[in-house]
Amino acid sequence: MTDWHSKTIKEMSIDLAKGEYSSEELTRHFLKRIEQHEPNLNSFISTFPEQAISLAQQSDEKRREGNSEPLLGIPIAHKDIFCTKGQRTTAGSNMLDNFISPYDATVVENLKTAGTINMGKANMDEFAMGSSNEHSAYGNTRNPWDLARVPGGSSGGSAAAVAAGLCAAATGTDTGGSIRQPAAFCGVTGLKPTYGRISRYGIIAFASSLDQAGPITRTAEDAAIMLEAMAGYDPKDSTSINQPVPSYSAKINDSIEGLKVGICKEYFTDGLDRNIEAAIQDAVKELEKLGAEISEVSLPNTKHAVPAYYVIAPAECSANLSRYDGVRFGHRCEDPADISDLIKRSRSEGFGEEVKSRIMVGTFALSAGYYDAYYRKAQQIRRLIKNDFLDAFKEVDLILGPTTPSPAFKIGEKSNDPVSMYLEDIYTISVNLAGLPAISLPAGMAQGLPVGMQLIGSHHSEAQLLNAAHQFQQQTDWHLKSPGLANAGTTEGKPL
Ligand code: GLN
Repeated sequence: MTDWHSKTIKEMSIDLAKGEYSSEELTRHFLKRIEQHEPNLNSFISTFPEQAISLAQQSDEKRREGNSEPLLGIPIAHKDIFCTKGQRTTAGSNMLDNFISPYDATVVENLKTAGTINMGKANMDEFAMGSSNEHSAYGNTRNPWDLARVPGGSSGGSAAAVAAGLCAAATGTDTGGSIRQPAAFCGVTGLKPTYGRISRYGIIAFASSLDQAGPITRTAEDAAIMLEAMAGYDPKDSTSINQPVPSYSAKINDSIEGLKVGICKEYFTDGLDRNIEAAIQDAVKELEKLGAEISEVSLPNTKHAVPAYYVIAPAECSANLSRYDGVRFGHRCEDPADISDLIKRSRSEGFGEEVKSRIMVGTFALSAGYYDAYYRKAQQIRRLIKNDFLDAFKEVDLILGPTTPSPAFKIGEKSNDPVSMYLEDIYTISVNLAGLPAISLPAGMAQGLPVGMQLIGSHHSEAQLLNAAHQFQQQTDWHLKSPGLANAGTTEGKPL
């Protein structure tokens, strides 16, 4: 058995160019791993083995013709929220169980053009609402480091598949932390770019003013390669930013001597796991060794981020999800008595519990008489949160903290306690409210589970974030660790 699956995109691309192995061999290797580990992990909703092999053969042909694009022939997965032409796209919901997309999302199209091979659609919380993947209508994904634990969410399938070596990289979306939190729980790197940097066209909408796609990879360098292909202006998305895409890889090797890194004091309070705190403090020392200048910053409105988000995100989701009425979109119930019965039963049957509760909250927050008290107030808080960041970025280049307050929790541990589940995103949510870019990268271990460190940058600072993250990864080896032994379920004792 080779170890190709533990290589980075960068390494695979060099190997493919040298002819060490072909994309077909690499793809078959990943398909074999999917076959072997999927029964335990459940990280995919659909896989496309035959199509993947045929795409791999085509990319080998292109390489023989002299094409040497870095992503040519690299097997990846797409979160099942990205529309893929001619393929089932469920968003983790029964509502879209039989939906075959007639078109590709811009991200999918861009990554196809770059030469990637789509191995399958990754499992996710229904309509991207969740932090554990337990809200998927297709069963929860398990964390490859410990099969009794969650992989995080909502891009849990993407993060678990990359961590377990079932694909080289995966796409995700992040509305309140859904790329960074699962990346932290699974010990991989996850980047949430500036709002508008990547087109939202063809991504099934959750909360449109917060949703943003991004890559989940082994390393920051791979994230840079993926982002270069994913990002760009798209006239089909009115919030897409019309700015050229820089080469994120070009400056990745620059020194970070003199980089000003602010430690946010509000992120180190009660509720933060002590082992995570210790790991992050060690990570700070590594950055200091690299020449970073560390200081303290304050984001005083951090405590209001989760409450504001849980008004704004449900409000937007209640509007976005109104299209699933069994008439225009989505599951249709059997033998409806009349139109109102049709809509009522189709929505009741199609949506899961978490989605229903968010639609209720959002509809309430937007209704006449409550709009000012809830929605308008939440938007005002959102502005204060953004101002906190803008003030902090007058002092520092990047803000550092933990990605999550605890390591991966047990499946079922928080299912009956939505508030404790919502607090999982305490460090990630304010970044979405402010539209900023942020990256989570492996920075230690706590009780045998990966710890994620988050770096937050000002708008459009992806190149700087990736540079700092890459330098940290040159200095440390946390990102090279892989889940060696699964300690639960049927894989007991078997290397992943
Ligand atoms: N966990 C958050 C939620 O449930 C964030 C989800 C996301 O980023 N898509 O809404």
